[in-house]
Amino acid sequence: MTHYFSLNDYCRKEFGKKLYKLSLDGAMTCPNRDGTVGTGGCIFCSEEGSGEFSEKCCGDINTQIENAKKRVAHKNKNGGYIAYFQSFTNTYAPVEYLRKIFTEAINHPDIDVLSVATRPDCLGDDVVELLKELNGIKPVWIELGFQTSKEESAVFIRRGYTNDVFVNAVKKLKSAGIKTVAHIIAGLPGESYEDIENSVKFVCAAGIWGIKIHLLHVMKGTDLEKLYSNGYFSCLDMNEYLDYICRLVQIIPGDIVIHRLTGDGDKRKLVAPLWSGDKKRVLNVLARKMDENKIIQGIFHNK
Ligand code: SF4
Repeated sequence: MTHYFSLNDYCRKEFGKKLYKLSLDGAMTCPNRDGTVGTGGCIFCSEEGSGEFSEKCCGDINTQIENAKKRVAHKNKNGGYIAYFQSFTNTYAPVEYLRKIFTEAINHPDIDVLSVATRPDCLGDDVVELLKELNGIKPVWIELGFQTSKEESAVFIRRGYTNDVFVNAVKKLKSAGIKTVAHIIAGLPGESYEDIENSVKFVCAAGIWGIKIHLLHVMKGTDLEKLYSNGYFSCLDMNEYLDYICRLVQIIPGDIVIHRLTGDGDKRKLVAPLWSGDKKRVLNVLARKMDENKIIQGIFHNK
């Protein structure tokens, strides 16, 4: 039984094959770290800028693509590739630099899609114009770390922008024909299930094309770790999280592509919740819960 419209489903329909992500490092920083917006970054963000699996800055983009391909070669059976600029804020640089690295990635013969993770406050007109141009060569997806629509939480996690900045960015990208993927975090301190549901409804209403739901991970060396160690909050347990996911999937409109429903932090740096380190088990339990409860994406959409 198919429970939801996954990224794999989309890729098979659109490209006729599975696409593998190659995480690349564009050697950029983040305005929420360098003092432009803030200095400490978001409280959950690790020193890798939320990009633990990226190829470390090791030369040009082509070299990074070739190295990253080797990492997924054992599981790739006739699939294609997504060039994914993941760490830090990947549009936070002069547009000519962005043109150079993104063009190199998109023109690589094995790349089918360019995916760029960034902040909605780093999408000036010149950047969107460039993305629009590149989108004419191959599909460009923009991933925005929104995390929550509860403004109080956004201030607490030091996101550094208000909800309207996100809404305007999605609108701007949509007018340029570019697909947006929103990231939501479930389990932020002080948030109830209803808060998470509101965040999901908020991004869906804003006009996104895809969504990633992450479990809040406490990573070593982050400010979130200090709060966790001091007993300021506790993490969701597995059943609680998966019950949330089953409910959330049902309110996501059926045409929105669900890119992710579980987190995937670097196990060597994961402090909590440790159950999330066993991804296979988590996915098995989720599949069972979805089967038992006959979960279908979008069935409550119009209610
Ligand atoms: S915007 Fe992204 S890279 Fe910047 S501090 Fe927040 S999570 Fe880290």
